[in-house]
Amino acid sequence: MTSAEQEARAAELRRLLNRAAHAYYVLDAPVMEDPVYDRLYRELLELETAHPALRTVDSPTRRVGGTPAESFTSVEHRIPLLSLDNAFSLEELEAWYGRLLKTLDRTPEPGAALPELAMVGELKIDGNALALSYEQGVLVRAATRGDGERGEEITANVRTIQSVPLRLQFEQPPAWVEVRGEALIPDASFAAINAERETRGEPLFANPRNACAGTLRQLDPKVVAARRLDFFAYTLHLPDDWQGGEGDPPRPTTQWESLQWLQCAGFKVNPNAELLPSLAAVEGFFAQWEDGRKALPYATDGVVVKLNNLRLQADSGFTQKAPRWAIALKYAAEEAPSRLLRLTCQVGRTGVVTPVAEFEPVPLAGTTVSRATLHNADRLAELDLHAGDTIVVRKAGEIIPEVVRVLSELRPAGAMPLALPHTCPECASELVREQGEAATRCVNSSCPAILRGALRHWVSKGALDVDGLGSRLIEQLVEKGLVASIADLYRLDAALLASLERMGQKSATNLVAALAASKAQPWHRQLYGLGIHHVGEVNAKALARAFPSVEALAAATTATDPDTPEAITAVFGIGGEIAQSLQQWFATPANQGLLLDLQGLGFSLAASEAERAAAATGAGSGGAGGDGAPLAGQTFVLTGTLPSLSRRQAQDLIEAAGGKVSSSVSRKSSYVVAGEEAGSKLTKAESLGVAVLDEAGLLALLAEGG
Ligand code: NAD
Repeated sequence: MTSAEQEARAAELRRLLNRAAHAYYVLDAPVMEDPVYDRLYRELLELETAHPALRTVDSPTRRVGGTPAESFTSVEHRIPLLSLDNAFSLEELEAWYGRLLKTLDRTPEPGAALPELAMVGELKIDGNALALSYEQGVLVRAATRGDGERGEEITANVRTIQSVPLRLQFEQPPAWVEVRGEALIPDASFAAINAERETRGEPLFANPRNACAGTLRQLDPKVVAARRLDFFAYTLHLPDDWQGGEGDPPRPTTQWESLQWLQCAGFKVNPNAELLPSLAAVEGFFAQWEDGRKALPYATDGVVVKLNNLRLQADSGFTQKAPRWAIALKYAAEEAPSRLLRLTCQVGRTGVVTPVAEFEPVPLAGTTVSRATLHNADRLAELDLHAGDTIVVRKAGEIIPEVVRVLSELRPAGAMPLALPHTCPECASELVREQGEAATRCVNSSCPAILRGALRHWVSKGALDVDGLGSRLIEQLVEKGLVASIADLYRLDAALLASLERMGQKSATNLVAALAASKAQPWHRQLYGLGIHHVGEVNAKALARAFPSVEALAAATTATDPDTPEAITAVFGIGGEIAQSLQQWFATPANQGLLLDLQGLGFSLAASEAERAAAATGAGSGGAGGDGAPLAGQTFVLTGTLPSLSRRQAQDLIEAAGGKVSSSVSRKSSYVVAGEEAGSKLTKAESLGVAVLDEAGLLALLAEGG
């Protein structure tokens, strides 16, 4: 970036962050996700650190929180309430520790071990900081953090919080005591508050922290009382000369003792705080709560690490807005902003074109992501994506990353709006979007992207399950024009394959053998492998049972009136949409040619004798759910490793006999089939009283016919 660009970017970020902070702190109605705010804030901070001239007086990095609201009396804090600096990774935690040692003049000689300072690990509760002032042991004032110097006086509201003592439990209390802690709304109350607001048509609170802030600022203390806030105390300030009365706990010298003092005084202290002897112990504490926090009845967004020794705390001091002796270590965000680099399109095996956003890599929920799906043209239009936009990307759990929204405030001037192209990026043929359909498609059946997708699908695990034919090899075969259809795979010889990149004689021979062996795969897998729109694994099985050969299936589809496709829909679980898709598929000359080609190569495209026998005892000709199906109506759950059957084989056998296989155990499960190293599903089955079978038991059940 040129210096003019940096200046413009800093100004943009300041404008956006100040607006967001006002919405968040003053209106209690955030306009962006917290991790997005944090990331943009960090970007501004880094710009300002690298170029101090960019630092302006109105920068959000210069101040704590928001300005106190006018509806409350503003009060000055006896001791300022600061914020906390954040670390978003263990590396940043270590860097903070290094800085702390430097401030305390304890940096080790090169090569020597880091000095270990004891710390206290506390949960970072996602609530609102409160300053409580006690005089002669009595609560006289409670205030919000406000801008750190001045907060809003909310004593009447805070008096309704049961866990805030109105009087300290001491014989001879100090002349004054300042306590800081976190007011919070437990998850259950938060859900109830929002449910109630919804019925009244009021806007919902974005998260428990905003709900808590909104509640503390209620003008009617009765509303606050009804919302049942809670409070955990974590910081104590005492007059310099107070040493403790007789029978009272002495003046604390560490953060750990402060927590105990607070507890003795009658405060609720979070029970999960821990005294940690070293940085390694801090990392363990953080890791433990990364998962542990999910079981807590209130929200936390990280852990707070505080130097234990109060004298060392005083020695290390403060930056403009936070103490140097503490840091908030935050958990990996599932949302983050990034800058769009380009919009690309992926063409799937059915020709569906999916727009994909490629953006500057960002760490998200433990991995770095740089691409996210935009689903379809409608979603693209809804997002109103422009070139160079700042986008918010989300990745929750195992889910594929997606673009949640665009921060249009950060859009570069004159940016071009983005849309799907009119032609296929792979074969340049015109793209088609049927009326009423969300998908845009390439309908050129010889489009290389569609062909690659069809080949990948044919050899995939649930279909023909051919080992040794990965995406890279498929790409080469299509690019070099060696394969133009599924059938062509079976005409490849080992010598030709061995001449390709990253292929040797042995892998080529193995692949030819694997392809030859795949001709013996059951009929339903062959049908699934054809990749007919809407015919997934389950439907392919149902169809293969009802129509034991491709001829029978083709006859049923072509003989069927397009408006009343009964012959097909009579098959259990098959809807009209699938019937139509089959009709279209069988009516396409290229597909008819493919079937003949496959048969010429030795594919039966029909059920074997054994499969027919199983279908006859199982489903009858009418469908999988027919009365003759011995396991009809029974649900099985597979867990662990069976001695001889693979998961898929066991599933095939159960389904061939009309049973269903489900992935989770419930009271409705008929059996759990457990092998070696069966996990929680077995335990659950036992606790619910669901019958458990081993492989022999399953085979016996099948042999008995249910
Ligand atoms: P912070 O929340 O990151 O950390 C400081 C606060 O942590 C303290 O004030 C205190 O309330 C709290 N805390 C919880 N447990 C604690 C403990 N054991 N010891 C000490 N403190 C503890 O900093 P902040 O300045 O309050 O606000 C920044 C936060 O607000 C960020 O998470 C940011 O994302 C969010 N924010 C969001 C928006 C938005 O638009 N979404 C705008 C502004 C701020």
